[in-house]
Amino acid sequence: MKVRLEDIPPEGLTVEYTDTRLRAQDLGLQVGSIISPPWARWQLKLLGEMVRAQASYRASLGLVCSRCLAETPLDVAGELDLVFRPQAPAEDDDVQLGEDELEVAFYEGGEVDLGQALLDELSLTLPMAPLCRPDCPGICPVCGRLLSEGACGCRAKETDPRWAKLAKLEIE
Ligand SMILES: [Zn+2]
Ligand SMILES: [Zn+2]
Repeated sequence: MKVRLEDIPPEGLTVEYTDTRLRAQDLGLQVGSIISPPWARWQLKLLGEMVRAQASYRASLGLVCSRCLAETPLDVAGELDLVFRPQAPAEDDDVQLGEDELEVAFYEGGEVDLGQALLDELSLTLPMAPLCRPDCPGICPVCGRLLSEGACGCRAKETDPRWAKLAKLEIE
């Protein structure tokens, strides 16, 4: 979703859209599916050659559990407040926005890329290693069974009383 600066009138512009082209893998490996695609409403305002862009957004994503690989839904929603500047500042360039809380993005070719800005925000917001539940037991490293579905017996075998008895006999 890109908007040309010349299309933003002096009174500002409201842009609302749903990003149906976004794919799960664009957001990161921890995203398995897009349950409901990102929706955003942007308020754009020209500030000289900069653009103030404020947005509300929401999306529903299927996150892949980092322990058991099960997918769990996650609703994300939030607000964005950033300023698009014409290009990356030089090393010694003094950024004088006066408002430290504003995030800065850059535009080129006379248009601001709202879709990319939202994608960046979502990527930063999502957990790096999601869990389906805080105490997810994960997968048995021996047989690959989902331990949330019950014990697989691999660990039980290690402490099987018969083996314990055998071990004892060997010692005696
Ligand atoms: Zn899990
Ligand atoms: Zn097992």
